[in-house]
Amino acid sequence: MTEIPKDHPRYLSLTLRKKISEYMKKGIVHETGLIAHGRGEAFDYLLGETTTQHAEEAEKTAAAALLLAKKPVISINGNVTALAAKECISLANCIPAKLEINLFHRTNSRVKKITKELHRMGAKEVYGQKTDAKIPGIQHDRALCSKKGIFSADVILVPLEDGDRTQALKNMGKKVIAIDLNPLSRTAKTADITIVDNIIRAIPNIEKWIYKLKKMDKKELKKIIQKWDNKKMLRETLIFISERLNSLRE
Ligand code: ATP
Repeated sequence: MTEIPKDHPRYLSLTLRKKISEYMKKGIVHETGLIAHGRGEAFDYLLGETTTQHAEEAEKTAAAALLLAKKPVISINGNVTALAAKECISLANCIPAKLEINLFHRTNSRVKKITKELHRMGAKEVYGQKTDAKIPGIQHDRALCSKKGIFSADVILVPLEDGDRTQALKNMGKKVIAIDLNPLSRTAKTADITIVDNIIRAIPNIEKWIYKLKKMDKKELKKIIQKWDNKKMLRETLIFISERLNSLRE
């Protein structure tokens, strides 16, 4: 693949596309992951490719929820591995939280490749290879999970998840934190805390907040969560996008 010139105005975006495409060729990203990435890119464009004030607040609230969790888990899929494996591992270490592979299009080969990649990037323990539980209400292999991981988690961070599984995790009584650039998606509407930001910015930002909030007592952390109104944030994010588009009109 041709090198992307560093002075290209879309350098970062093109680099991410290249990564996603390379990880698809390696068998880590599913081909439909390319389409999901494109949808994400489109929303990122509308947001101005920056972390909005609402996203920053969501990242802070997510950090508080992860610090208060007894059994936090970060769910990993192909696109997450391609775009933010190192960042997820680092976040998992500082919380600390478990990492579990959970795929929509699950095959043993993809699970093995993602596990190998996560170990190569420094992950010690990776859940989700041997599954011994199912997320109730979900059909087929995408329900498979690990008893010690997602099945028994109280707080789950699901970057780039689909709406069905988000709902099913909520039905299990879990607190779900989603990272999804599309504020209109079922995932965004269903999650307890939705971070409308690109995963490449969101994960390091949550980690930044983990360090900032780590010494805070539990009462204060709970106050941050109590203040959070996900529906209001989604409404305000849509207003942000429409005002931004209006301001760009000539
Ligand atoms: P839902 O089932 O929640 O209605 P969907 O059918 O759009 O949503 P998927 O295609 O499974 O769900 O999920 C992909 C989602 O991930 C998209 O909504 C897209 O906006 C988002 N996404 C893709 N790339 C990124 C990224 N780099 N950072 C954050 N979100 C992303």
